[in-house]
Amino acid sequence: MPSSSHGWNFDHSYAGLPDVFFREQAPSPVTQPEVVVFNEALAEELGIGSLSSDLQAQAVLLGGNQLPPGAQPIAQAYAGHQFGHFTMLGDGRAILLGEQITPAGQRFDIQLKGAGRTPFSRRGDGRATLSSMLREYLMSEAMYHLGIPTSRSLAVVATGEQVYRQPIQTGAVLSRVASSHLRVGTFEFAKRFGDESAVRILIDYALARHYPERVGSERPALALLEVVMEKQVALIVNWLRVGFIHGVMNTDNMGIAGETFDYGPCAFMNAYDPKTVFSSIDTQGRYAYGHQARIAHWNLAVLAGALLPVVDPDEELALELVRASIDRFADLFTESWFRMMFDKLGLVIAQPSDRKLVEELLLLMRTHQADFTHTFLALRREQQPEEAITEDPDFQQWFERWTQRLKEQTDRTAALDLMTRSNPVRIARNHLVEAALEAAVAGNMQPFHQLVRDLQQPYRDTGEEPAFQSAPAGFDEGYKTYCGT
Ligand code: AMP
Ligand code: MG
Repeated sequence: MPSSSHGWNFDHSYAGLPDVFFREQAPSPVTQPEVVVFNEALAEELGIGSLSSDLQAQAVLLGGNQLPPGAQPIAQAYAGHQFGHFTMLGDGRAILLGEQITPAGQRFDIQLKGAGRTPFSRRGDGRATLSSMLREYLMSEAMYHLGIPTSRSLAVVATGEQVYRQPIQTGAVLSRVASSHLRVGTFEFAKRFGDESAVRILIDYALARHYPERVGSERPALALLEVVMEKQVALIVNWLRVGFIHGVMNTDNMGIAGETFDYGPCAFMNAYDPKTVFSSIDTQGRYAYGHQARIAHWNLAVLAGALLPVVDPDEELALELVRASIDRFADLFTESWFRMMFDKLGLVIAQPSDRKLVEELLLLMRTHQADFTHTFLALRREQQPEEAITEDPDFQQWFERWTQRLKEQTDRTAALDLMTRSNPVRIARNHLVEAALEAAVAGNMQPFHQLVRDLQQPYRDTGEEPAFQSAPAGFDEGYKTYCGT
């Protein structure tokens, strides 16, 4: 392989789907591509490590001015329910270069987000702002290092062009890396704009790509629904574990591979309150922290609706099977959620009354607006949190009971280890994210790089991270995050 190829090794399995699923579309060149951040570790993993020392290539290839060897750029078609309403969408500002096959044999979509207009752009400009692409880079890398399935970010390249937002901002292209960009909305699209064979082909494709162990199931559509449900339950439970609020859980933003993706108005919760929501457009709190499981269930019902016609030739039986599947969600979720909460509390071997222990703690935390991350870190350290909650006699009583339960764990090392792995020291606190982005946009990348580094070891406890242990008083009250900026 010539060294100038940097190890690009593209395949294009998605482009092998029926034509209705995509349009050929090259990225639109930008005036002055300049690399703002590049993820060397990820490049290495992808097999394009030599790109790390070639700034010029990074800029032209990941800014969209030149195609890497073997790329076949396309925009993917999809639909989706946005805030409950069905819409035709599609990649309006993202272009898939292809699927990179890594030296380890894994397959990853390489997508340029903000790469210019496509047939799906509608009235949009196809571009993205530097600030929002850096935000996605930061948040996705934070999630990755928290051990939560997610798309990743290879680079952010500033375009040297302005994008017309309120106010006018610098443009940028994010190179996004994901197991795939298949979403619930891809199936909604197939059902609405394809035919039955398109739905079947897509199901087989999704199973082969993500769940090969389920290929050959008696009812492929049902097998897919079940596995996506299991993956989504696991994902949402993980979000809840670290206080993550996705912010825009429309069906086009729910991935079939079970990864977190489409980082728009997402944020981490500080004070514990299930109603927490930061997204400027989510005025009803549809996607609030504590609604995320319900919304995942709703989205899965939409997926079920798209798959229904091909589940079984016997329509009644198909409906019955799909219902039974979807109805498992509540139990599956509750079970996994409690298991995750037991992990946070170090209860390796839980007993039925421990559910009450969890519920009582959360009620106390909510009443006292206790900081979510700090409270659990304190417990992990077997200390009391530095919070008003400790002045509540009910909390003191709770703490005693919990300490007792912890003592009863036969394997104490396992209990402490479980707490260490379940309770991060560092999350991407809103005020830190904003400070880093503000500096970055003003030309100082140092705080951004520092924050990315800090978030690479979210569970390591050095005992001295005050910046990560609280949010400035009142910061969250007026804090708003934004969607497609
Ligand atoms: P999102 O909110 O990022 O999930 O995007 C919803 C839809 O709007 C998708 O079809 C995007 O491709 C499209 N979109 C968002 N921003 C832009 C933009 N600046 N130009 C064109 N399409 C966009
Ligand atoms: Mg989206």
